[in-house]
Amino acid sequence: MGGSIYIFLAVAFGIATAVIGRTKGSSVTLWFMIGAIVPGIGLLVAMAYRNDGEEPRRPCPRCGRECMLHDALCVGCGNELDYTTEVSAATR
Ligand SMILES: [Zn+2]
Repeated sequence: MGGSIYIFLAVAFGIATAVIGRTKGSSVTLWFMIGAIVPGIGLLVAMAYRNDGEEPRRPCPRCGRECMLHDALCVGCGNELDYTTEVSAATR
């Protein structure tokens, strides 16, 4: 009986991990396997995993270079960037 509970948890965590992995633009199958094999840990890894391609960006107001949303300084010209919560809210 304990085995079936483990399988249920593995599938539930696998699906949850796959859903998170999908929002990051990664393979659903891969994340499902990770979530099912290491339930809990796989889910945490999926949440911590960052895909640079999916990272919200904004142009620098001074030089126009694309910077990461969370960057405090522009990598192109060193201009100080304001942290705008509006942008992150709009991308949701
Ligand atoms: Zn700049």
